[in-house]
Order: sequence, then C-alpha cells, then structure tokens
Amino acid sequence: MQRIIFHMDGDAFFVGCEVAKNPGLRGLPVVTGEERGIVSALSYEAKTLGIKRGMPIFRVKKDFPCVLVLPGDYASYTRFSQMMFDIVRRYADDVEEYSIDECFADLTGLDRTLKMSYLEIAERIKREVTVELGLSVSVGLAPTKVLAKVASNWVKPNGLTVIDPEKTAGFLLKTPIEKVWGIGPRTAEYLKKKNIQTAGDFAEKDVSWVRNNLSQPYESMWLELNSVCVSQVDSEPKTVYSSIQKTRTFHPPTRDTTFLLSEFSKNIEDACRKARHYKLVSKKISFFLKSRDFKYFTLKIVLDSPTNAPEVLVHEVRLRLGEMYKPGVIYRTTGVTLSDLVPDTVQQGDLFGSGIKAGKFESIHRQLDLLEEKFNKRVVYLGSTHKALNKKKLGTDSEDLDRDLLFL
Ligand SMILES: [Mg+2]
Repeated sequence: MQRIIFHMDGDAFFVGCEVAKNPGLRGLPVVTGEERGIVSALSYEAKTLGIKRGMPIFRVKKDFPCVLVLPGDYASYTRFSQMMFDIVRRYADDVEEYSIDECFADLTGLDRTLKMSYLEIAERIKREVTVELGLSVSVGLAPTKVLAKVASNWVKPNGLTVIDPEKTAGFLLKTPIEKVWGIGPRTAEYLKKKNIQTAGDFAEKDVSWVRNNLSQPYESMWLELNSVCVSQVDSEPKTVYSSIQKTRTFHPPTRDTTFLLSEFSKNIEDACRKARHYKLVSKKISFFLKSRDFKYFTLKIVLDSPTNAPEVLVHEVRLRLGEMYKPGVIYRTTGVTLSDLVPDTVQQGDLFGSGIKAGKFESIHRQLDLLEEKFNKRVVYLGSTHKALNKKKLGTDSEDLDRDLLFL
C-alpha cells in the first residue's frame, strides 16, 4: 500500500522558541549559543547578515554589534518541542521524534478516519503549531521518509510541500546529491565522481548499479527515493541524548575560586551520573562561568578518550580554570556540557594513559550507582563537591537547572 509520510521541521528552531517567548524579537537578527561560545542557532535576519552556525560569539559581537546574542535556554526548547509533537499526535498515532525540532508521522489511512485530505491534515497541524505555539515550521508530505525530508526542505521557512509519487523526478533532479538525508560528504564526493550530481541522477540508476557500487543502506535510500517505503516511522520514545548540561546559580555571586571549583564539581558529578544512567561517554566537554552582569566565559576541552568519570573532569577544570576565570569578575553561575555523547561500549583507545585511570573510576561509579539505586538516594559525593553541598544546605541555591539537550 502507498504510504503517506509527514515530516515537520522547526524553522531556526532555538531562535524560533526565543521569539515565541518574546515576540518583541520578531524580525530582528538574533543568535543563540552565548553560553557555548559559538552560534548554535540564528534567525533568518542574522543569516542575511552573513552569520553562520558555529561562528564564535566574540566575532559576532565584534563584527555585528546590531545582533542580539542570547544564551541557549534548552529547558524551554525541550518544552516547545514536546508541545509541537503533541499537536502532531492529535492527528497521528505513529509519531517519530527524530530530533528536538523534527518529527515524522505516518498519516496512511488517516484521510478516511479523519474525513480530511492528507493536505488538509498537514495544513491543520502546521496552523495549530503556528497559532498555538507561535512557532514557524516547514512541512513535507511524501510516500517515504527520505522524500518527506526533501519535501519539508523544499520551501523554508514556513513551507508546505507535497511530493506525489508520479512527480518525484521534478523535485529530485533539482536536489543536489549531498542534500539527501543520509548522504554524507564522502559518499556525495564518491557519487559525483560517478557523475551523479543530483538525487534524481541517483534515483534513475538501476538497482544492479546501486548494489555493485554501494553498500546496503544506500540501496534502501535508493528505494525510498523511488517512492518505495523501506524505513518505517518509529514511534518508540527516544532516550538517547547527544549532550547533557548541568548548571547552578548561587547567591551571593562570588570570585572565590575554591567555591567555583566546588560548584563545577557538583555540575560534573550530576552530568556524569546522568551520562552513566544512559550508558554514554563524552570526550568533548565545555565549561562556562556566567558573571554577575550575565557575561559568559567558556573553556572547551577535548580528552584523549571519552569518559563519564567525574574525577577526570574535575581534574581538568582545576588545571585549566585560569583559561576562563578572569580575576576581578564576580560570577553567579557555573555550568558544564558533555557533548557528542557516544555509547560507553566504544572503548577507550588510549591503553596506557588516561584511559586506564578513567576505566578504574568508571567501575567504581558503576558500583556506587547500583548502591544509590538500592537506597534510592545519593550516598557518596566527591570531596571536591563538599563546599557546593554545604551551600545547598544553607538554602542559598536559587536554581539548579537540569537540561537534557538534543536527541542524537
Ligand atoms: Mg530545523
């Protein structure tokens, strides 16, 4: 049976959420990512100025003083994301939360159940997201997930594009091969050498060519481009995160490095505990200090081997605090982000160095986690967290944010 797959993608999503929270920002050049030190999302107005994702924040501030720079507020992005997906669930049972701002839904057969055309269903969802949440989204309808991604990307922002099976050729011949979902830069380069420039060139090849020249996943992709639905909408809830962030704001603000390190230690312990819970490790870690007047100072480290052992990170931040700590500045918040998380089955490569040490710590933490699960409370803290805990006992913590970031 011909399937009808719906794909929805938030337009400049993080900035979209900021605008939804504060409509005064609409139409202005806005970027988020201040706390990470790089642009993580930008409004279309900021894009027009030539700003790109990943650009250092200090450069944006220097070269584009008219641009509004905001720290990411991931707790609210996650809320908007869930509300957006809940609107789709009003219509479809099978909704796949593909990332924080993208989902697929299988609408097959719903035209009869809901007594509406597929286009009407898509329009209703899009309108409800815009009216109720104040978010702009782009939507695609097509017979497969790969084609639905092509469709939602066709008109952006605020687009709604339908790709009928008999009309795919027109779309695909105008879609550069590297824009197809799942084709990485290496494969794109390889295909271009074989004179395949567009998704259409690829779809027109016959199956034996695909089998002889590429591995199995590309045969599925080729089928999907030819309107054969291979990949099902997977509505299992996602539990895997690509990054974990923990932050703490304290009162009064301080410049006391011992105290700040203790706050970092608490951030690190909490983030690592969460990472262990999901059996994830990271080797890209960033720290930030936020000053009393809301300026961010960041430190990024890349470890030789990934870990979720807090001892390793506490050691690193203690060694390198000076790279973000500016004497004379008074700080109110600390935070840590573990990025590019990978399953902890990917083992440490570095056998003789930090890998072994981290491995030892990891097995201790596994035992402690079991103990804590048994008693259903925190049993053991690192000595370096002591001051931060005392502070908490005094009841002076004004917030203790826990943010789960993007899905993998
Ligand atoms: Mg998006």
